[in-house]
Amino acid sequence: MLDLLLPQRCVVCDAGGNQLCTGCREDLPRIEPPLCARCGAPVVWPVERCRECAGRRIAFAQARAAVGYDAAARCIVLSWKERGLRRLAAEAAAVVAERLPPPDVDALTFVPADRTRRLARGHNPAERLARELAHHWELPCEPLLERVRGGRQRGATRDERRSVRGAFRATSPSPRRIALVDDVYTTGATASAASTTLRAAGARSVEVVTFARALRRV
Ligand SMILES: [Zn+2]
Ligand SMILES: [Zn+2]
Repeated sequence: MLDLLLPQRCVVCDAGGNQLCTGCREDLPRIEPPLCARCGAPVVWPVERCRECAGRRIAFAQARAAVGYDAAARCIVLSWKERGLRRLAAEAAAVVAERLPPPDVDALTFVPADRTRRLARGHNPAERLARELAHHWELPCEPLLERVRGGRQRGATRDERRSVRGAFRATSPSPRRIALVDDVYTTGATASAASTTLRAAGARSVEVVTFARALRRV
């Protein structure tokens, strides 16, 4: 509701008119192929596993993101997560639907927010993105996961991996082919932990779809 009452300004460049102006939307960094077949990292030539994901246990079949996580993408994600600008989740979903083909799955689900954050924000940003995407792709969106303990930890890769292991529980059986939606892909640890749980709940393959992806040099 608040959204409708606020003056409409681009959250990236502050131009009037829309929460994400056409220019800034077009400028969101593209993730151009070739990509790592598994984790979706841009690579020099096509590979099955790249230096970023090789040697790690990854429970999802593939991960794809619409934009690189630069300052503008960060601005959009933070505005929709922390400031609750709902319209931006719809804008982000439109960018994803524009840049990524629909996943070949039975349904979409999303990474659940931990309870504290959901209560603080009054919404789960990943769920909002998933529901908007479900609309674009004409797929059902099913809540399948919940957090077992603690929140998503920020920080070093190893700590993140340790902290998310066993962090999720399935609340119902998963469709065989499922796409897991989240706002940002960083190390893939969260997506992998959630995918492990989905597979234990009956998923044969999990595709990860995110709005943005951290781009490291690999
Ligand atoms: Zn702008
Ligand atoms: Zn990779």
